[in-house]
Amino acid sequence: MNVLVASISGEKVTETRCRKNLAKKLGLPVRRLSRGNRIRTTISKSEKSCWAYVCRKTRKDALSEEIKRLAYNFWMKHGISRHTGNKADVKRERIGPKTYSSHQVYLLEKTQTEVYIDFTTEYPCIKLSQRSFENCKPYFIRQVRPKDRQTCCCRYHVETKSAFKSCMNFRKKLLNENDAYDENNVHVYDYISDIVDVTLCNKEDNVHKISCLKRDCGECGINKLELLPKETAAGDLDTAQIVKWERFEKVDIKVKGNKTIKKLVLVKKETKAVELFSHFLELLKSFPLHQHRATWQNKQ
Ligand SMILES: [Zn+2]
Ligand SMILES: [Zn+2]
Ligand SMILES: [Zn+2]
Repeated sequence: MNVLVASISGEKVTETRCRKNLAKKLGLPVRRLSRGNRIRTTISKSEKSCWAYVCRKTRKDALSEEIKRLAYNFWMKHGISRHTGNKADVKRERIGPKTYSSHQVYLLEKTQTEVYIDFTTEYPCIKLSQRSFENCKPYFIRQVRPKDRQTCCCRYHVETKSAFKSCMNFRKKLLNENDAYDENNVHVYDYISDIVDVTLCNKEDNVHKISCLKRDCGECGINKLELLPKETAAGDLDTAQIVKWERFEKVDIKVKGNKTIKKLVLVKKETKAVELFSHFLELLKSFPLHQHRATWQNKQ
């Protein structure tokens, strides 16, 4: 019975807080489902489990354990990152089948590139690429987001944010369901700016080159973004999962006098993931320049 209960009381159930309803439907006491959930997932709060996440992520790197550990600890150094001061600010990552690590969130006090430069200055003899260095970053460290980052409420920002969330939710589910996907470079990004940065060259003097933002640069672009097979047309379309997402579309709306007008509204879509991802990539083409202009206007 526990096995059966475990199989129906996964993360989804916890997340959507519908455990009570599910219990009612099944005619089981809620406690029963909670127990099933405990059997299903293990959450570790130890430092060791956080380190295990990095090891899992960097398995393919030829780096020695010693260097990885050095880079990992560097991210947590005083002056590099700090506690949020809010105990409820917790991040959780999967470190194995049904096993999770959980840790209080730390905030970065600099950009990732600045941290990398600090590291290479402190350890000039260690040859480590920025990407490998960033892969050693503890998962619970994230960038400070100035409030003014996301002030534009235009249709374009709303649509891009929504598509980004749908894409990442789909990806997270894919990665959690497929152990085979562990060995890849496809990440679940927390913020649009992180995924946007992958499609741009590194900043110079803390800003992106305008040619990169305008997508005129030959070195960067949305093709820099790695996708999972199930997110592209190359994936097996027969088994493709259906995803729910939203986009703006012009819709006929009936008004007084038996007339119809066209109005731009958010329309709910249920399509194969490929369609969602190609919509998101299309938005990403012009997003950096739009974001840049919105931020610039905000500072005036
Ligand atoms: Zn906007
Ligand atoms: Zn950027
Ligand atoms: Zn570029």
